[in-house]
Amino acid sequence: MKIAIVGAGAMGCLYGARLSTLPQNQIYLLDVWQEHLDAINLDGVQMEEDGSFQTYNNLKACRHAYEVGPVDLAIIFVKSTMTHQAMLDNKALIKDTTVVLTLQNGLGNVDAICDTVPADNVMAGTTAHGATMLGAGRMRHAGKGKTVIGELSGEVTERVMRIADMFSQADLETETSDNALGLIWGKLLSNVGLNAITAITGLLNGQILEFAETEELMTLAVLEAKAVADAKGVRLSYTDAVEHTRALCRATAPNRSSMLQDISNCRKTEIDMINGAIVREGRALGIPTPINLALTNLIKTIEQNPQK
Ligand code: NAD
Repeated sequence: MKIAIVGAGAMGCLYGARLSTLPQNQIYLLDVWQEHLDAINLDGVQMEEDGSFQTYNNLKACRHAYEVGPVDLAIIFVKSTMTHQAMLDNKALIKDTTVVLTLQNGLGNVDAICDTVPADNVMAGTTAHGATMLGAGRMRHAGKGKTVIGELSGEVTERVMRIADMFSQADLETETSDNALGLIWGKLLSNVGLNAITAITGLLNGQILEFAETEELMTLAVLEAKAVADAKGVRLSYTDAVEHTRALCRATAPNRSSMLQDISNCRKTEIDMINGAIVREGRALGIPTPINLALTNLIKTIEQNPQK
């Protein structure tokens, strides 16, 4: 299968490297970071796992989609703030039968992709892997987890099963779902409770539960988001969203959330697609979301006044 990864950062490198281990795949990593692309084309992707590095060089890194041409599968792994732009930049990857898969966090990626590609070509899902960039061509696979993917229609098609099977063969354990929207919202609710609070306080994921104040904020933020999800009729894969988020805090206790890493590195965060999305959706439905508004505005203020 000819596969393009759009956004070859931490997660893009992880999926690209793993999928490149299957002989039937041709993998192209697309990114705008030239030094990173040059390092990959020279020395491959260097992935650190459990303290040692492994090299993956059965792949090609490219700056422009026209160097690649149409692909069978495009996996979108830019930050959700960049999805719309990345789809415009990489139109040359798309033919009638191209499947475009988003495993990004946050709300709005599917819509941004569907602005460029027919909805029938789009799949969505979630990943519980964790990864961090270490430098050009180098990244760390920080935590293993399941990938779940589904068609937007909810139908469990032959093509979604084929892609899930191929991922699993490449050591990316993957299941299919008949509820892609529920997957996205299920992950969103946890991100709503975890990301902004850790980014503002500097706490590790597990430490949220050590302070009554942050645990209360986490609970209220998640309950607001759950009320919005319920009003939209979203079917979640769990019943207790707060307990689900608590469990995630415990399971990823030593991790610095991606939003904390973005704030520490003075980078723009995905706040508009996480807590900000709850505020927008809540306003449209007449559901108050004051905690999510406060978290969104604090993160946006920090973004505008970065402290090195
Ligand atoms: P990242 O910042 O490491 O990588 C994003 C890459 O996209 C960068 O290398 C950037 O140069 C590239 N890019 C930006 N604009 C582009 C464009 N127009 N065309 C092509 N490439 C472009 O981000 P990440 O941590 O890999 O996260 C990607 C997505 O996956 C996010 O939505 C994130 O929330 C989600 N996610 C991340 C993790 C994690 O552990 N890192 C886990 C689950 C989900």
